[in-house]
Amino acid sequence: MWISDTHCDALTRMGDQPVDLRVEQPDRHIDLPRLFAGQVGLQTFAMWVPQHAKPFGLRDVLVHEWTLFKHAIASLPEVEWVRSREQVREPSRGHLLALLSIEGVGSAGAPEWLELFFEAGVRMVSLVWNERNELADGAGQPHPGGLTEAGIAAVEKIESLGMVLDVSHLSDPSFWDVIRFSHRPLLASHSNARRLCPHRRNLSDEALRAIADRGGVVSVTMEPDFLRIDGQASLQDIVDQVCYLRNLIGSEAIGFGADFDGVDTLPQGVQGPDAYPRILQALQQAGIAENELEAMAHGNHERLLREVLPSENVA
Ligand SMILES: [Zn+2]
Repeated sequence: MWISDTHCDALTRMGDQPVDLRVEQPDRHIDLPRLFAGQVGLQTFAMWVPQHAKPFGLRDVLVHEWTLFKHAIASLPEVEWVRSREQVREPSRGHLLALLSIEGVGSAGAPEWLELFFEAGVRMVSLVWNERNELADGAGQPHPGGLTEAGIAAVEKIESLGMVLDVSHLSDPSFWDVIRFSHRPLLASHSNARRLCPHRRNLSDEALRAIADRGGVVSVTMEPDFLRIDGQASLQDIVDQVCYLRNLIGSEAIGFGADFDGVDTLPQGVQGPDAYPRILQALQQAGIAENELEAMAHGNHERLLREVLPSENVA
């Protein structure tokens, strides 16, 4: 059963060091051998924009990470860069579909820049990381507000271009503004249920329902602090999150977005993407049916991407 994962920070983790992803990287999580061992067939790679990087530093970061993605990842013969809905399907064995996202596009002067990012092959965008920027307030902002006028315009632009709008990292008021001003299915690329783990980065039951009502997907993340408030998470906490979400919003609204290479520690029993078969096995033992597991593993992301991404015939 192949896996789609909607968030990793491999591009940020690479930094200035050229990394050969075809060789196992013992001090990192993401490399092709371990992605293939985990049967990961579609991996989203995030360009992360640090909050201290104001316009010019930020442009440097984006150009650097885009260049890394293009030359260190998308150029590998095993990798196919996904830009259209037609490309979203089960990859053949030994091949990886790669989607490029931006985590926290805000300070880049969007919405003017969004068209450029789209042309550069970006197909998933979140407005803000944890801070406040020109578009929205993030989950770490004290006394947060919602979207700015530019943020509302950005939401419209992201949807009209055919990019996935990622709601992870939004403050609660920003989230509800996105619900108000957006129309298409939304993705939480790496967030869990706040009811089980009361962290500001997790989503309330009402927010989870709002995503599911729109045909969106919530990708369960493996950051230990988002699984257990004491951070002492294990594989069982991932199972508990999935089971909770299944009861609340149904198996057709659940996916995975582990945040590999973006976290310092991982839950006990999970050491990287190669743990996915073990996670699916644990979910099966928890009573989740085969067809539901297929949906969670890749089917729900496929449905969302096919609906949101542009058709190559239109380009
Ligand atoms: Zn993140």
